[in-house]
Amino acid sequence: MDPRVEKFMAQIIAKNPSEVEFHQAVLEVAESIIPFIEENPKYKHAKIMERVSEPERVMMFRIPWLDDKGEVQVNRGFRIEMNSAIGPYKGGLRFHPTVNLGILKFLAFEQVFKNSLTTLPMGGGKGGSDFDPKGKSDNEVMRFCQSLMTELSRHIGPNTDVPAGDIGVGGREIGYLFGQYKRIRNEFTGVLTGKAIEWGGSLIRPEATGYGTVYFAEEMLKTRGDSIKGKTVAISGSGNVAQFATEKATEYGGKVVTLSDSGGYIYDPDGIDAEKLAWVMDLKNVRRGRISEYAEKYNVDYHEGQRPWGVKCDIALPCATQNEVNEEEAKTLVKNGCYVVSEGANMPSTPEAIEAFLASRILYGPGKAANAGGVAVSGLEMSQNSLRLSWTREEVDERLLNIMKSIHQTCVKFGKESDGYTNYVNGANIGGFVKIADAMLAQGVV
Ligand code: NDP
Repeated sequence: MDPRVEKFMAQIIAKNPSEVEFHQAVLEVAESIIPFIEENPKYKHAKIMERVSEPERVMMFRIPWLDDKGEVQVNRGFRIEMNSAIGPYKGGLRFHPTVNLGILKFLAFEQVFKNSLTTLPMGGGKGGSDFDPKGKSDNEVMRFCQSLMTELSRHIGPNTDVPAGDIGVGGREIGYLFGQYKRIRNEFTGVLTGKAIEWGGSLIRPEATGYGTVYFAEEMLKTRGDSIKGKTVAISGSGNVAQFATEKATEYGGKVVTLSDSGGYIYDPDGIDAEKLAWVMDLKNVRRGRISEYAEKYNVDYHEGQRPWGVKCDIALPCATQNEVNEEEAKTLVKNGCYVVSEGANMPSTPEAIEAFLASRILYGPGKAANAGGVAVSGLEMSQNSLRLSWTREEVDERLLNIMKSIHQTCVKFGKESDGYTNYVNGANIGGFVKIADAMLAQGVV
């Protein structure tokens, strides 16, 4: 490791002990940025890298609620307000039993760079709780969301901090959260994104992350005169991002052969067409069932406890969670002919997996660039709320496509190497960093 990076990371680790995902996210950025800063000393003297790695504010609070049996339950809530140099804090809420401070700090840190890449005026934040929505009734989810928002409402606002969804937080949860905010504050504002269209949401927001990931893959392929058409695609996850990545990849002429959840993955060699996808959406969003049921319904193989990366494919779209592609799986993907990876999830590849992708010179689009479509359309939802107008589906989709193209161009601008290969990791990190760093320089030591 570069000794300057090593020294910087030693401070991060000492200051944030046991936050391993946060260390991982900062290291990935530091490896791109620290050499860049050496060539641009104004950022070094202002200690920009040290400042962007320190949250502006962290809230951690108790969330007590009553379950259906009348028993008291206690969860922990968080909101990380990471950086507001270029706009209000913006980033999702995650409800998952694994949630802790380190995971949310990694997500908030990534969000800062991602939001900068979108070209929209949004700072970075993230939040959530160790609450597990699985197996809970709608009433339990509602009471939990109301309790969380009772505290969170003190800290957020349309010009301060605008949360959205993430793992475990979809339309149902955003509805309950928004209702409680509105009741407490007595104001109808765009304080959350991912709202339903009838009460301030944007068309294309549910689709945006998955669609954007596919748009980014198509842009990467174009640089080699290629396209998704006719390609075999492996996707992990079966939630919001995976569902709409499947929809768009299929629309672009690809054949999606896998989906997964935390129980395992299904392999459908005939492809998950529109009709089968509609069934998956009902299974996951309405009946809240398991992906194994797909195997029974369509008579295909189900691989319990496994991830889909051993399957032969041209394109891989990891859309489930962090660190879901390890070094061995990355090497297997490449060996089996995969030459495009576009990340719908946040930090799904381990550092060793990323190294394997870059070493084999495949088209590798890291999450902070490839999955920025979700937050981009959240930014467009904020704009529509401020204007008190709703744009059409076509208009929002066109803006999304243009933003993904612009992010791709930024990555190429900052990531192209002397042999012509684009290192999208460097491109996204440096491209995202410059705008934030310049804003921080202009605003002084705050
Ligand atoms: P959902 O909750 O809708 O779906 C998550 C999917 O991933 C489910 O299939 C879930 O399976 C699976 N999953 C979650 N945790 C694990 C785990 N530890 N091991 C294996 N599988 C797991 O979330 P989203 O689709 O919204 O988010 C997916 C990823 O995309 C996350 O990394 C998120 O941060 C990222 N992302 C989401 C955005 C959005 O707009 N929603 C925006 C940008 C990034 P199971 O149901 O069994 O838990």
